[in-house]
Amino acid sequence: MGHSPADIANVLAELSAATTVFTDPDLLHGYRRDEADLCDAGTPLAVVRPSSTAEVSAIVKVAAAYRIPLVPQGARTGLAGAANASDGAIVVSMTAMDRILEIDAENRLAVVQPGVVTARLAAAVAESGLSYPPDPGSWESSTIGGNVSTNAGGMCCVKYGVTSAYVLGLEVVLADGEVLRCGRRTAKGVAGYDVARLFVGAEGTLGIITEITVALRAAAEPGLTLAAVFPTVAAAGAAVTAIVTAGCTPSMLELIDRTHLAAIEAYRPMGLSSAGSAPPVALLLAAVDTGPRAPDDIARLAGLCAAAGASETYTASDAQEAAALLAARRLAHPAMERLASSMYGDGGALIIDDVAVPVSRLAQMIEGTEKISAEAGIAVGIIGHAGDGNLHPIIVIDRRDAATVDTGRRVFDSILALGLSLGGTVTGEHGVGLLKRDWLATELGPVGLRVHHAIKTALDPHHLMNPGKVIADA
Ligand SMILES: Cc1cc2nc3c(=O)[nH]c(=O)nc-3n(C[C@H](O)[C@H](O)[C@H](O)COP(=O)(O)OP(=O)(O)OC[C@H]3O[C@@H](n4cnc5c(N)ncnc54)[C@H](O)[C@@H]3O)c2cc1C
Repeated sequence: MGHSPADIANVLAELSAATTVFTDPDLLHGYRRDEADLCDAGTPLAVVRPSSTAEVSAIVKVAAAYRIPLVPQGARTGLAGAANASDGAIVVSMTAMDRILEIDAENRLAVVQPGVVTARLAAAVAESGLSYPPDPGSWESSTIGGNVSTNAGGMCCVKYGVTSAYVLGLEVVLADGEVLRCGRRTAKGVAGYDVARLFVGAEGTLGIITEITVALRAAAEPGLTLAAVFPTVAAAGAAVTAIVTAGCTPSMLELIDRTHLAAIEAYRPMGLSSAGSAPPVALLLAAVDTGPRAPDDIARLAGLCAAAGASETYTASDAQEAAALLAARRLAHPAMERLASSMYGDGGALIIDDVAVPVSRLAQMIEGTEKISAEAGIAVGIIGHAGDGNLHPIIVIDRRDAATVDTGRRVFDSILALGLSLGGTVTGEHGVGLLKRDWLATELGPVGLRVHHAIKTALDPHHLMNPGKVIADA
């Protein structure tokens, strides 16, 4: 809907009466997009930074009165364009609502505002001898609000579960500005529909989350870490299947391929790509929690890796060495960005895919991805939370060269089609956003899509909450 200059002036005046508003063009530009490449982004009318639920409610009421779309944002580390602004929208940056309101050690829960950075919450609860396990690779910058809204996963989720497993209760500002409190503070509770869960992974399309109650666990001491070197990526995939099938419960099971190993080594030399007597084609990183069984558990993982074809296995000798292996894994993203620049200069870019398949189909998924990449003649690195069947094929393109961009997009689509054909899903953890909207429709089918539209319209009748993300506007 077009707005007159007088309307726009009124909107800005009413917003300014309610909260902190920015309209400086340079600042607006900086809030246009998240970390996903190749997704459309518009220029917002304004960026607002509320500091309380009451301010968020007032903002939403102004937007509802003038029918102006709202785009909630956390730290904009998202990889699906879900936090991208659209032209004329109000961007609601939640980063100023960053207080840890309560850590209740007795009941093992914490109450936080959405702008709290994930690693800060983990560190704060650790001081009480507890842990908040979800650990996305971006945890030093991503926010809990963003994590809840994307249902983020991470490295330890193979054992401890993804963000949704920890969300007990939420406070949400609905599309008309009303404040909903849903969920609970108890370990159990089945009163009514599980409304809180509906907002987990909704990518800001159903409301703006203003408070989150998360469950905590007892802290686990660092255990033992294993690196296993494989002659093929598919053999590493087969090892993952064998480990899961055998009923082992590693606290980490990550796959890193040759492309990533070389990129990490070039970014920060750590000796990873020279692990073993021959350069590894793939590396599995596995960990088990501490305890009397840890040496047996890690030996069992090493045995299963060897049986699946690992040429060498290596157990970190101390916590420092284990931390170094983990740090190398966390460098994968900047290292691949550097690789793209070294290949294509300023045009170097990454299309980051995210697909999850049943663990029994992991080796097939990897072999198929390698075939797709070879046939297209384009570099695709494979990394992922393999224990969850969750792979991130990373496609390296030159954004200035339409041919590589086209090929990259085709490869991206082929990988998702392969994932679905193997009984998988088009996103394991990064979400749908703009990037995978059409693929979500394929995965859901007409009935599933209709149910999604019905839920959206029931909670947001004028489609003002992050419109066009996840599902297309009807
Ligand atoms: C280097 C790197 C590594 C990564 N590793 C992982 C990983 O291991 N696992 C993983 O799952 N993801 C990973 N990601 C993706 C990303 O970090 C996650 O999706 C994260 O949860 C996004 O958090 P954010 O605060 O940046 O949210 P944003 O990107 O700002 O927003 C994400 C979505 O949440 C919505 N949103 C944000 N705050 C609110 C709120 N308060 N209320 C309602 N909606 C809201 C936005 O509208 C958007 O739809 C990685 C990203 C990078 C760059």
